[in-house]
Amino acid sequence: MAWDDKFSFRDCPWCGLTNTRLNVKTVNQKFTTRDGADRFWATLGCPSCGNAVLIEHGDPNARYASPIRVVPAGKEAETTIRHLPEDVERYYLGAMRVLRVGVPDAAAVQLRRTLEAAAAHFGIKERVLMKSIEKLIEDGHVTQSFAPVLHHIRAVGNVGAHASDEDVDQATAEGALRFTTQLLRNLFEVPGELEELTKQPMQAALPPAPSGAPAAGGPPSV
Ligand SMILES: [Zn+2]
Repeated sequence: MAWDDKFSFRDCPWCGLTNTRLNVKTVNQKFTTRDGADRFWATLGCPSCGNAVLIEHGDPNARYASPIRVVPAGKEAETTIRHLPEDVERYYLGAMRVLRVGVPDAAAVQLRRTLEAAAAHFGIKERVLMKSIEKLIEDGHVTQSFAPVLHHIRAVGNVGAHASDEDVDQATAEGALRFTTQLLRNLFEVPGELEELTKQPMQAALPPAPSGAPAAGGPPSV
């Protein structure tokens, strides 16, 4: 999948306008590298400040439908994860959306669902999330060091889901989001990037790009 209109739902990296959709001017602008590789870009504009934003996206046959890089990179770059399966991404983006509008309880529940969807992607569908988490670690998909964090996200999600005296506050939900981001990078982004590198041996063998410029085929600059 090349361009997806959902890529246009993003904050303006120039003026910080949130909860907006950037105007899509053109998509599928093709540029070719000296080695003959095609790169595709979209140009968008902020409806408030009028600045342009460039988004590099995959070619029409790309397997993953997520932006490769956004220029200029806004705060969103900290939470953008490549190679995320659609089902997992849905809950993860949902968590960020409700967190942004100040509903940390709902964010906690969405993060819990993100974990469940991520585990399911590895064929793990235990009835209890705690068991799924243990199995993720047991099977070596995540390292042991993630264990306390995973259980923390699960516990925070439980508090968010049940009516009680206890509430999930914004800081706690934001903390859980940060760790979920790291976890998803570990589970999906790193293996996905490695797979891409093995498919592009020429690019992987290129010398490093001059400082300040992102390396060809490398991770998005943040
Ligand atoms: Zn703007």
